[in-house]
Amino acid sequence: MAGNWKMYKTAPETTAFFEKFRPLMANATHCEVVIAPVSIDVPAAVAATQGSRIEIGAQNLFWKNEGAFTGEVSGAMIAAAGAKWVIIGHSERRQYFGETDETVLKKTVAALEVGLHPIVCVGEKLEEREAGKTAALLTQQFQGGIAGLTPEQFARIVIAYEPVWAIGTGKTATPEIASDAHKVIRDQVKQRFGAEAASAVRILYGGSVKPDNVKSLMAQVDIDGALVGGASLDPVSFASIVNF
Ligand code: PEP
Repeated sequence: MAGNWKMYKTAPETTAFFEKFRPLMANATHCEVVIAPVSIDVPAAVAATQGSRIEIGAQNLFWKNEGAFTGEVSGAMIAAAGAKWVIIGHSERRQYFGETDETVLKKTVAALEVGLHPIVCVGEKLEEREAGKTAALLTQQFQGGIAGLTPEQFARIVIAYEPVWAIGTGKTATPEIASDAHKVIRDQVKQRFGAEAASAVRILYGGSVKPDNVKSLMAQVDIDGALVGGASLDPVSFASIVNF
């Protein structure tokens, strides 16, 4: 269960979140819990979660370890700051910052090389869904990105299905819609990496997950977890999602 904080919370706000959130996680041993704050707050989040099961992620990385790339942060730097995870290819990065399936693949490989666990995002836009192109789009994103990994690399990633029309809109995919998309992705995995990899890979659903809809989503066999934006900003709300 992962929280994507997007561009919200300062370092003091991050620390204050974990003061409230940590006690609520005392019994949450059924899953891994990840929070991805803005990069500059990773050290504060790592410090605030020391000695707990909560792990910290970044929301992006650059694929080079260092160099003249003003404004970028490398996977090596994120790992050195104590983060264990990184979100890659979020639809907001694809929409506003020019991410493509090709850069998603480069970033995923770079993250794996420094030992980070990538959460690789895919998902269709509203017009693609309405045109009946969801499966084709998911296949294209998979083929252009994740399919380029080796089987060993693939075994270490988590996939997040995030329909763009459901992100931050309050419009959650029905459990059936989400489940159908997860099946398309799992089928792609099976064709490229085999049946064992397809059953082992964890596919998270993301898009307006809230405390009151998480249970029906998680009841689907093909949904293995959630990537949560807005509802992860509040400790009580995210705790009730994790403890669904
Ligand atoms: C997200 O940012 O990945 C997300 C799913 O956002 P929200 O839960 O707010 O729709």
